[in-house]
Amino acid sequence: MDVLPAGVAIKSSVAIKPSSAGHRSEPLKDLYHVGEMPPIGHVPKQMVAWLIRQERFGEPTKAFQVEVLDVPEPADDEVLVYVMAAGVNYNNVWAALGVPVDVIGARLKAGEKEPFHIGGSDGSGIVYKVGKDVTNVKVGDEVVIHCGSWDRNDPVVTAGGDPMFGASFRIWGYETNWGSFAQFTKVQAHQCLPKPKHLTWEAAAAYMLVGATAYRMLHAWPPHNVQMDDVVLIWGGAGGLGSQAIQIVKAAGGIPIAVISDESKVDFCLSLGAKGCINRKNFNHWGMLPHWKDTVGYNTWLKGVRTFGKAIWDVLGERRSPRIVFEHPGETTVPTSMFVCDTGGMVVICAGTTGYNATVDLRYLWMRQKRMQGSHFANDEQATGINDLVIAGKVDPCLSQTFSWGELPQAHQLMYENRHPHGNMSILVGAVSAGLLNTADQRAAMRGLYEITPEVAAEAEKAEKAEMEPEDIYARPRHGIPAGGEFVDQRPAGEVMHQGVITCLERTTVDEVARSMVENHIHAVVVVDAQGYAVGVVSQTDMVMARQGRAPADVAHLTAVDIMTPDLITCTLAASVSDVITTMTRHRIHRLVVVQEEGEHLRPVGVISMTDIIRQMMGYANPAAPRDPA
Ligand code: NAP
Repeated sequence: MDVLPAGVAIKSSVAIKPSSAGHRSEPLKDLYHVGEMPPIGHVPKQMVAWLIRQERFGEPTKAFQVEVLDVPEPADDEVLVYVMAAGVNYNNVWAALGVPVDVIGARLKAGEKEPFHIGGSDGSGIVYKVGKDVTNVKVGDEVVIHCGSWDRNDPVVTAGGDPMFGASFRIWGYETNWGSFAQFTKVQAHQCLPKPKHLTWEAAAAYMLVGATAYRMLHAWPPHNVQMDDVVLIWGGAGGLGSQAIQIVKAAGGIPIAVISDESKVDFCLSLGAKGCINRKNFNHWGMLPHWKDTVGYNTWLKGVRTFGKAIWDVLGERRSPRIVFEHPGETTVPTSMFVCDTGGMVVICAGTTGYNATVDLRYLWMRQKRMQGSHFANDEQATGINDLVIAGKVDPCLSQTFSWGELPQAHQLMYENRHPHGNMSILVGAVSAGLLNTADQRAAMRGLYEITPEVAAEAEKAEKAEMEPEDIYARPRHGIPAGGEFVDQRPAGEVMHQGVITCLERTTVDEVARSMVENHIHAVVVVDAQGYAVGVVSQTDMVMARQGRAPADVAHLTAVDIMTPDLITCTLAASVSDVITTMTRHRIHRLVVVQEEGEHLRPVGVISMTDIIRQMMGYANPAAPRDPA
């Protein structure tokens, strides 16, 4: 079932010509319903797509809207693919928000004409049209699409180098337009690989972006390409990247160990081939390294990281360290990854989900001769590498949930709110239902469904709108504020902090937040969501950084949620001042939110800042409680 913008009707029977399937005549139309596959090779004039526009940047449920537009024309080295299913990735949450990069603005600046973005960096489908220079695929081929695109005249490419190092490299459906969230997508022919025949369209659309990224990380950085018997530590083992990495390591004869945050993920990781799992919630040494001058903090960290290292040995049953550490959380885990990595080993990283300022104790780096290697998506060879493993049945796409076409914004909203299921998610686009394996299945499933009159189209539109109501996928409970850890030492934070917190809502404008700071003489405001849970902090630094390099008009539409530092770094009332200092220096922040347990949640009751500590050192009393305008 499709979703059409108001006022759009689909007209049938523009002309009649024999379909290339051969058996019967089909009416040719200028626009088809989503799920109503045109005759193979017939490219209609128009298509339906989920578009992001600059004027509606924001949360995915607001940013994505269905529109009808002309089908693009493929260039000589490009093909047009009729999309059967599309994968969901975090990059199009960023595209919807318009931060940290306004992808539409960037492309307009580079000379492109379209003032919109069609996202989607994973997809499966059928080739409908090929450019004149295309030789690797033909009309009717069933394909999966990888998201690496580059200019074939890029000097790095013409010199035979890795296109991933070329200046023209772009992620299709994020950095480029015309992604898979539309009936037709325009891709470079080399991005198309054979669809694994045993997979449904939705499973085939789920794995390529994360799978090829993991494949490059594990196979492309010699001498650290994973080999027989190599121990590999994999962060987020139940996540999109991690679930692929476990299987790739296993297929190469290595020994994957998964890090997870919930015991419910253990069976999933073991079923993929992990030797064992380590629950990171059993440790609390995360975050940036304590400063080496902070002896108390550094020694506490050392104790934590050594216990974590011992957990690896416990899984293995012997004292061996990982030759490869598969990194992506970034700031909070890199110090640990560098420490536990074996002498002469490699930490390979493709993201900084928790932050970008990773810290390294250089003494371990040089003395133990370890290596930290950045890695980004993949080239054709590596995309083929993961596809061959999937075709051979050695890697499963780990499809967790399939959404209908109408639920595309909600699927991204779940990801934005970090409430998505583990594994990888897909959206049905052209596939008329889930569970179909090929073009013939699609034709059979369409039979009897598409006798389209304007009345039927209007009814379908109405039904689809009702179907879009998102109650089901919002049923899961929201977490409270994460705690920063348990602390021990002399004076409790409760004695030194200043009482009370000033809050604002996620949608409070940046101007209002600034006014609140100035009027209340404070340096940070806690951001709360509609349910009253704290979700982040806007500090004066965040405020100033938001203005850096942006025109005033661009800042005007920003709200607290756009510029806040997500999640609160907290301490309890009883936390010691010395541990508070360690936590602040490790996170390079100047204040912690002090929380009190309240049922299963933590309630912010005050703020402790470096200034408060200095006041105490100088013998001044605690400042008066600030007024909370919210
Ligand atoms: P995902 O499915 O959400 O999985 C990420 C996993 O990280 C989660 O399952 C979580 O597992 C773990 N995690 C979350 N917070 C953590 C923390 N503080 N410490 C340790 N582990 C933590 O996401 P994904 O698809 O695997 O992608 C992960 C990151 O890689 C994202 O930032 C994505 O944008 C990036 N990425 C980059 C490329 C590239 O080409 N450069 C390609 C794909 C993805 P537990 O809670 O169970 O530990």
